[in-house]
Order: sequence, then structure tokens, then C-alpha cells
Amino acid sequence: MKPAIWLDGSLCDPDSARVSVFDHGLTVGDGVFETVKATEGRAFALTRHLRRLARSAEGLGLPEPDADEVRRGCEEVLRANPVPFGRLRITYTGGFSPLGSDRGTAGPTLVVALVEAARPADSTAVVTVPWARNERGALTGLKTTSYGENVVALARARQQNATEALFGNTVGALCEGTGSNVFVVLDGELHTPPLSSGCLAGITRALVLEWVGAKETDLPLEALDRAEEVFLTSTTRDVQAVHRVDSRAVPGAPGPVTAEAMRIFTERAAADIDP
Ligand code: PLP
Repeated sequence: MKPAIWLDGSLCDPDSARVSVFDHGLTVGDGVFETVKATEGRAFALTRHLRRLARSAEGLGLPEPDADEVRRGCEEVLRANPVPFGRLRITYTGGFSPLGSDRGTAGPTLVVALVEAARPADSTAVVTVPWARNERGALTGLKTTSYGENVVALARARQQNATEALFGNTVGALCEGTGSNVFVVLDGELHTPPLSSGCLAGITRALVLEWVGAKETDLPLEALDRAEEVFLTSTTRDVQAVHRVDSRAVPGAPGPVTAEAMRIFTERAAADIDP
């Protein structure tokens, strides 16, 4: 079966789907997106993802996405692509706009696509990068398609056999990864940077805060050097232990706090598809 995508209100074959080369999302990165976990044809935490999509769109000054239409797109794509495990990618952009002008009047572009994915590994290696996340930028906290900074940082991680790069912010506080939030255990207590650090309001982060509990604490990036345990959270990783930060091994990963967070997350997520 050929994968089907949802484009501007209907299902279509990706080979014949057309988006303008003058789409403002393509030309200037004027767009927002969500990545949603899909298990056995069901989208996880879709209501939270739709809310964040709307918040990101509002932050970028895009018209509010029609939540019912996005939901319908997700359902249709999942029905047309029966993969056991995958990710829905929702992209919503400024739409057609002649070069040199602001957004055109044709309205936004909405694409929903599904990619089959492997289940996340239990643990991984991360690196820190020398570039700062701006905790006071116009795009801070928005999930926009302007992800170039993350692409560059992730490439650096891959060069060092790691799967994620962690950023500090402009005042040197621990912030987040290119596509994940970070938790650390210090003196037996679980901490994660507050949203004021400039990190994205990750949905997995929020669920771990609600289900497991952690302190939202401003920490220096160097806290990673003395953390007893480190883990990442994201839609694509769930709760994932970190066994190496730069050249430092984090022994015993997943440690007891991480293992408990993984257990609780897995159990609660299995019990409620739209928490
Ligand atoms: N931080 C960034 C920059 C991200 O792109 C993501 C992924 O969406 C996350 C954190 C984790 O968020 P979530 O748990 O909603 O996937």
C-alpha cells in the first residue's frame, strides 16, 4: 500500500501532492509543526498536541488551525496507513506567498503525514553544544519549522556517536535538547529546567511532571557533570536514560529514579491514549 497524506482537506498520494514552491513555510520557515506518536492506528496525547499547535501558530501570527480538520486529517491518515508504530507529522505553514511579500491571501497550508518508526532505545548518549538557546527570542517556546539550529546541533551529536545535543541558554543554564527535554537527578532528587529557561513545553515533560513529579529548577549546564542520573523526554523517545554526556559515562543508566519514571510513564500512557 502506498502511504497517503492529508493535504489541505483531503487524502492524497504523496507523489502527486503539490505545495507551492512559494509557500512561506518553504521560503522563510514560516510554519509550525507537531510530531505525534501513533500506536496501532491511534494518536497519543492528540488533544495536547493540537493545543500546542494552536499556541505555536498564534505565536507566529498564523491563523488559528481548525482543530477538527487537523484531527480528521490525523484519523484519515492513520486509517489509510495501518502501521503498528509510527509518527504523525502535522505541518501548518503560512501558505502561498509571492517572493518578497508577506504572507499571501491563499490561506495556510496543512499537511498531515505518517512515517513508520522504530521504538526508542532504552538509553542513549548525548553531547553538549557551544551554542546558546535564546530564552527571550520571538520564537522561544514555539514549535516552528525554523529548526536549522537544531539540525546543526544534531549533526554535531551524530559526529560524536550521540543521538542528542543539549543546549544551555544565554545565561548558561541547562535548557533542552534539539528535540527533547532533559531531566537530571541531583542528590537523589529529580529536576528539570523551567519553561523560563527557553525550553519547549514538551508534552512528555508535562506528563512526567504530572505523573512522576520533579522540581522545575534553574540549573547550570555543568549540573550534567555531577548528575547521578540524566534522562530525556520526547514524543519520539518517551523517557530515555542517558548513559553518556560528552565523554563522561553516567554509570548504571537507567538508574533507579529514571527506571521508575520509565515504568510509570509506560504504564500510564498505555492506560490513557489522550491524557
Ligand atoms: N524540545 C524541542 C525543541 C522539541 O522539538 C521537542 C519535540 O517535540 C521536545 C522538546 C519534546 O517535546 P514532546 O515531548 O512534546 O515531543
